[in-house]
Amino acid sequence: MRDQASGPRVLLKRLRELMQEPLEPQERLDRIVRDIASNMVAEVCSLYVLRADSVLELYATEGLNPNAVHLAQLRLGQGLVGTIAASARPLNLSNAQEHPAFAYLPETGEEIYNSFLGVPVLRAGRTLGVLVVQNKTMRHYRDDEVEALETTAMVIAEMIATGDLARLTRPGLELDLRRPVSFTGLSFNDGVGLGHVVLHEPRIVVTNLFNEDSEEEVRRLETSLGSLRLSIDDMLERRDVAFEGEHRQVLEAYRMFANDRGWVRRLEEAIRNGLTAEAAVEKVQSDMRARMLHMTDPYLRERMSDFDDLANRLLRQLMGRGPEDVAASLPKDAIIVARSMGAAELLDYPRDKMRGLVLEDGAATSHVVIVARAMGIPVAGQMKGAVSMAENGDAIIVDGEEGVIHLRPQPDLEAAYAEKVRFRARRQEVYRELRKKPSTTRDGVQVDLLMNAGLAVDLPQLAEAGAAGIGLFRTELQFMVASTFPRAEAQEKLYRDVLEAARGKPVTFRTIDIGGDKVLPYFKGAIQEENPALGWRAIRLTLDRPGLLRTQIRALLKASGGRELKLMLPMVTELGEIAQAREIIDREVRHLSRFAHHLPTSLKLGAMLEVPSLLFQLDELMKAVDFVSVGSNDLFQFVMAVDRGNTQLANRFDTLSAPFLRVLKQIADAGIRNHTPVTLCGELAGKPISAMALIGLGFRSISMSPASIGPVKAMLTELPLDELEAFFNDNLMAPAQGLPMRALLQAFADDRSIPL
Ligand code: PEP
Ligand code: MG
Repeated sequence: MRDQASGPRVLLKRLRELMQEPLEPQERLDRIVRDIASNMVAEVCSLYVLRADSVLELYATEGLNPNAVHLAQLRLGQGLVGTIAASARPLNLSNAQEHPAFAYLPETGEEIYNSFLGVPVLRAGRTLGVLVVQNKTMRHYRDDEVEALETTAMVIAEMIATGDLARLTRPGLELDLRRPVSFTGLSFNDGVGLGHVVLHEPRIVVTNLFNEDSEEEVRRLETSLGSLRLSIDDMLERRDVAFEGEHRQVLEAYRMFANDRGWVRRLEEAIRNGLTAEAAVEKVQSDMRARMLHMTDPYLRERMSDFDDLANRLLRQLMGRGPEDVAASLPKDAIIVARSMGAAELLDYPRDKMRGLVLEDGAATSHVVIVARAMGIPVAGQMKGAVSMAENGDAIIVDGEEGVIHLRPQPDLEAAYAEKVRFRARRQEVYRELRKKPSTTRDGVQVDLLMNAGLAVDLPQLAEAGAAGIGLFRTELQFMVASTFPRAEAQEKLYRDVLEAARGKPVTFRTIDIGGDKVLPYFKGAIQEENPALGWRAIRLTLDRPGLLRTQIRALLKASGGRELKLMLPMVTELGEIAQAREIIDREVRHLSRFAHHLPTSLKLGAMLEVPSLLFQLDELMKAVDFVSVGSNDLFQFVMAVDRGNTQLANRFDTLSAPFLRVLKQIADAGIRNHTPVTLCGELAGKPISAMALIGLGFRSISMSPASIGPVKAMLTELPLDELEAFFNDNLMAPAQGLPMRALLQAFADDRSIPL
């Protein structure tokens, strides 16, 4: 009887020699199939490769009619070969012709063969082809033979993936691996990016496939597994708050997998068949991925991703690799493709080389997306499967406007997008020109266009966008991208940097607005709430945790020494909250002056108007503060009773409907009546049509995302304000013909060629 371990080992040794010989690709394939056939004592060995048009083409054969090479073909799912490719599972048959899927290809002359063993050629769980052996006698191939053929298929998968076979393809019949694919997900940040894929966690390419000494490899595997287990235990034991909650569950799952006996046994088996420990990890993982690909249970699919991460960690251990020096190896037009990512990890990439971000998971409000938005990078999310379809260096387009990505796009699509990018750049040029013009309506009324910000990465935009200042600095973002509470010094440094960057332009800092949808994973005091939007958030929370507020206020006061400090409170519901906050501020001022600290030259305290209760005490409110800023995102949510994060309701109610515009008019009027400056800093300010409405209602200061300033200013400079005021006089309380206000405003702009 044949030595079960030596059969595959001899074959792998032959393959290694063949891979190193300077052969033409066809010649190499021909020799590979010949050697497999002889090693496995099979009369036939054939390789089918999957093309982009879902057809499996015969690329090489020993035993079948050689004239059928590159001619014989089967569709995915057709015949035994097509069935293997579609299911990504092997088929082991002693009488192939009895199988219901058997399809006879006359050009191959295969009718005389009875037994059949076919395995998928897999890479990262994707089927790239099928490898088959056949015999005339009716025999059942042993498990070790199946394993050997699978291992050989893995070597062929590497050949395909490295582009070795590209020269054998005919135009229009490219391999599946190079197929253009598009994914539709969600838009997380506007913009269009053309560039090349950079996998955030690059699949580690195993180049050393064949081992010299199985026992030595098993020992290496054991050592690396040991270190892997230790590092997981370490993370679990760290009392680091960043590892609480969901994170912890994932780590628990990792620990379970890392100790999974079945997994370890399969790894050892692959090594004993001749693979290196690295190649064994890749093979076992690829098999497992292919098997799980057809599972629909979202929980199991999620666990599969965890297992992938774990396998990648093990590979890193085995290859002694630390985190790569990403910056150095990045192409100049990098599009980062990740399953998910922490905000801090994104900041590790150099901004000037990044053209876009693609996430398999994530939400518009996830921290990494907030940071990407601040950096002005197009982001598309919820792109399920993008990571496994993408290879490092593939051409890719991110369309953040539509929430679509195109991987390996066809030339005409690429050309169309390049045109789109040029068009957007021309428009940006127009906006840049506008920066020099005064920020006034056509009839000369000044309107301040400010920007919203929240991180140090936002600051360069102040000059680039030509904003008049920062109307809303969301201080909680610093807390959200951190893994523990930022220390007082770190807070003070950020505020100081912001004021420095503003070079005398006004900056309004909002005290930390957490709770609701803004959760800090490390905040132990957080509670489960039925209605978090109506719950313990913003000023409600910070008044109950005065230590948090005091630290922040002290940092703000110190950072603003010698300058004006503008401070505002989020989610004020009753005036008593303003008085309470003022007491805390006063106490901090007294404390700092006792220690002779450099204090702000003046301190202006404002309230955000987000809760409808304030609408019924507008005059009292205006008298209680130095300024008011309307948070239209929250105000709209509470006035209309519509959850701002609920996509089901996202387009149901109109922010420009008459009732909401009347609310805004009352606020603007109360400000004028009481000589209290009023601004608005929600998303409403950033759309030219709604910005136009706000100006018509009396707002003379609005704050928006930096990218909106150009389009809003283009509208502003063409706006005849006197006519718009007359329009509101006529229509606000009785819209013409009962039409929606949005339609009337659109018509107003169209009639006067105001660009919206
Ligand atoms: C708002 O509610 O409009 C606002 C500006 O605050 P945030 O979006 O941060 O809740
Ligand atoms: Mg708000």
